[in-house]
Amino acid sequence: RCPLEPNAIVSDACVSYKALDDINKELAPVITSITHNTDFFSYYRLNLFNRACPFWSDETAMCGNIACAVQTLENEEDIPPVWRAEELGKLEGPKAEHPGRKQQEEHKSKPLMGGLGENVGESCVVEYDDECDERDYCVPEDESATGNGDYVSLLDNPERFTGYIGASAQQVWDTVYRENCFSKGQKTVDVGKSELAAFDLRSVMKEHGRHQAATEQASQGTVDDGLEFDDECLEKRAFYRIVSGMHSSISTHLCWEHLNQTTGEWGPNLVCYEKRLHNFPDRISNLYFNYALVLRTVGKLRNHLKDYTFCSGDLDQDRQTKYMVLSLVDRIAAGPKIFDETVMFQDPSAIGLKEDFRNRFRNVSRLMDCVGCDKCRLWGKLQTSGYGTALKVLFEFDETNDALNPRLRRTELVALVNTLGRISHSMSAIVNFQKMVEARDAGV
Ligand code: FAD
Repeated sequence: RCPLEPNAIVSDACVSYKALDDINKELAPVITSITHNTDFFSYYRLNLFNRACPFWSDETAMCGNIACAVQTLENEEDIPPVWRAEELGKLEGPKAEHPGRKQQEEHKSKPLMGGLGENVGESCVVEYDDECDERDYCVPEDESATGNGDYVSLLDNPERFTGYIGASAQQVWDTVYRENCFSKGQKTVDVGKSELAAFDLRSVMKEHGRHQAATEQASQGTVDDGLEFDDECLEKRAFYRIVSGMHSSISTHLCWEHLNQTTGEWGPNLVCYEKRLHNFPDRISNLYFNYALVLRTVGKLRNHLKDYTFCSGDLDQDRQTKYMVLSLVDRIAAGPKIFDETVMFQDPSAIGLKEDFRNRFRNVSRLMDCVGCDKCRLWGKLQTSGYGTALKVLFEFDETNDALNPRLRRTELVALVNTLGRISHSMSAIVNFQKMVEARDAGV
């Protein structure tokens, strides 16, 4: 069964599957260069071990497989000097503003592409602000020198099959989808402010079951995702699509880099792909939706990033990083319109909906502390932070007047660009999986 007609439009976006595949073919090498070849985007600081699950206590949920483990950078020598505690200590002072904003103002007229020029005095101010901004859509990861965060090399801890399965993983996903229960007309509680949320798992299952039923209908022959979301408004639909698309990307990675437990070899697992994605066109559609949404977000940051200082302690690499990032945003800007966020949260009847949406997304981000596998938790946290940043930029940023915009923390930017990298890689993997299915069906 062909899951998706290439020329069909990805619903809720302004673009077809084929157009997104073409854009991805062009951009994937740039995105991979940024995420794989720069220190700025390949080290991530987060609270991986020190935050308790705020929803339930389940010590049996821990995944003991070696593939679930994360190698953190415990030796200061392995961390780029500019982020070492000792260096961060030196930079302590008034709360870090947007890096070097004042100096950057003075140098705004200097050309950015092809290098910054010798005299551009951008300074590296390391942020250590982990306070939550009311406009944040997720719980910030700790960027502070004094906090309990760990540095992790994302390259040394690839997202792939870990063997984390069973009740714990199921419970996390079920609860993630429960945050989608807008339809009850209840506002969600920001659990950060309450003690413990009382969960009615039956309502979780009921709500999720509703989407599953729609999913099954969609997979029985419709070529576009064809999902009828009842009379849900765009905002509520978008919430579901974001979490489902993230789930699809995680599933794609674990199927693409799967462990053959008989041979001990890693590689694509077609049965895994068919079981989790191929037979569910809406899940693939939600992944494409997320690509359109996150790509639009990165494009929207064009002005913000022109004035951004990328600090890794190596000036040449910092210039190169900036060059690549600006080249990415310029290419996005030169491409077609793919997503229009201005139509969301406009209806007067949607007053309060945005806050509700934000609280629900924060809860999804907190849920990542309940994931019982370190590596899954790492990528789950990074991706919820990436989507949270995307939502913040889409709904709280003014594209034309950057001075009014909230500051982006380094962790947010790293999470956003790596999330784009994950979706981009998933789309390429799905294209390859589809070729494998066609070859198999053709008896090749
Ligand atoms: P699950 O993927 O657990 O799905 C549960 C149910 O959700 C399914 O039965 C289906 O009804 C529904 N569903 C599935 N996909 C979608 C979708 N895209 N949209 C809507 N509904 C859907 N495992 C790894 O091997 N590597 C990882 O890196 C990894 N990271 C994880 C990160 C997080 C945050 C979580 C919660 C789990 C992670 N896991 C990872 C576990 C993995 O996602 C699965 O939970 C596990 O493989 C068991 O899969 P399953 O077949 O039971 O279905």
